[in-house]
Amino acid sequence: MRRTRVVATVGPSSWDSDNLSALFDAGADVFRLNYSHGEPEHKTELYEKIRSLETSERTTCILADLPGPKLRLGEFDGVRLLRNGDIVRLICGKTSYDGPELPVEYDGLSAELKVGDAILLADGLIRLSVKETSGVRASFVDCLVEDGGPLTSRKGINVPGTTIDLPAIGPKDEKALAHAIEAGADWIAVSYVRTAEDIRPAKDAVRAAGLHTPIIAKIEHPSALKNLHSILEAADGVMVARGDLGVEIPLELVPLAQQNIIDAGLMRGMIVIVATQMLESMTLNPRPTRAEVSDVSTAIRQGGTAVMLSGETASGEHPIKAVETMVRIAKATEDGLANSGGTPGALSKFRSTRAVAHAGVELARTSGARHILVATQHGNAPRLVSGYRPDMVVTAVTDRIRAARRMNLLPGVKSVMVDEYERGSQTMQEAIRILAAEGSIKSGERIVAISGSPLAMRGATSTIRLYRLEPDGTISGTE
Ligand code: PEP
Repeated sequence: MRRTRVVATVGPSSWDSDNLSALFDAGADVFRLNYSHGEPEHKTELYEKIRSLETSERTTCILADLPGPKLRLGEFDGVRLLRNGDIVRLICGKTSYDGPELPVEYDGLSAELKVGDAILLADGLIRLSVKETSGVRASFVDCLVEDGGPLTSRKGINVPGTTIDLPAIGPKDEKALAHAIEAGADWIAVSYVRTAEDIRPAKDAVRAAGLHTPIIAKIEHPSALKNLHSILEAADGVMVARGDLGVEIPLELVPLAQQNIIDAGLMRGMIVIVATQMLESMTLNPRPTRAEVSDVSTAIRQGGTAVMLSGETASGEHPIKAVETMVRIAKATEDGLANSGGTPGALSKFRSTRAVAHAGVELARTSGARHILVATQHGNAPRLVSGYRPDMVVTAVTDRIRAARRMNLLPGVKSVMVDEYERGSQTMQEAIRILAAEGSIKSGERIVAISGSPLAMRGATSTIRLYRLEPDGTISGTE
């Protein structure tokens, strides 16, 4: 079983039903919906299309990525070519504009910039420097084009070294968050996190809805690197968002930041998604460069638990090939790796469940069990088990589709749905029977089962059992 998860961003190249189905068949474990683009309500149909791909064997998983306080150009028609040495005027506070100037959504930019500031557009492909600014809100900024190039609508704007005075969850994010919760997103990513506090509104909104949707912190700002440990303590997963990170800090520091973020995530047993430009050339070409293949493989060898495709699947020419390529690189890398397992450090969250998870993984290692079954209602216990990076197959046993869907972003974890969850060890034995019937567990194999007692009691993951599947199909307890 492939452990590394593949996240595919959905966009115009992939959002019709046939392409979504082909991405799913090619091995996309998670569909990322980027709320930076389009109105939230237009995504409802995408949720429906993605869910319609589900079968009794395979659930779908949707990651809702909130826009965050990212500055963006407004809408304009066609492609603008910015030439080196040109002066270009930004008009701030415009969501769209027909004139020759470039619209900027955020009205405060003209008040916050000063002469000499660098402005990067389109993930740093275009560089401007400020020549003159009105100094007041909703006004103009004149810039010299230092590194030009073609530019289309809605591209990101970065002002390195400046912390723009916007909350991590602004009105646009609130709308996106409300939609993602209502539509049933399985994971939610918060963009431009700078402090642990930035995670809180999303956590609170999820809790207020009576849900347990895990939150991913996107690390893409220098302040987040400074506050990494407290941010990870507040989040459930982390994304190395290299697109913005690579313009906010010097590019040559991104690989080191990536390793630090992965190490910090692994220490906590968290999922770590490595994102952006992984197979960038496949946006146009059917085959990646050697360097891109090496980048994906390196991210996995560093300990990344998921690799993400952005423009490659959202707007590229070869979305399906990009997923197939990612899957092949992940498999080849895993085959060549001896899984040494991980040992997350002491953590404040889920202390007792974590201890049981650790003990379960150790029991599987010492007894030679090839399978770990984990009973779960919200997906937390399998998340903690997977944090120890066991080399056994981990199966979440649940009666809740929401929990089953979330498992698709956890490395090496699958799920099985049971009808009756509350029958204690009988439920776990039922799950073993289902897995045996589909050929996933073979006769003579040992299985570690981790559960609560009683199974449905909240926070009561406390019981570890060791079973063996006998040749006659019965399940016995074993030493
Ligand atoms: C990134 O910056 O790398 C990223 C994943 O965020 P977004 O695509 O939302 O800019």
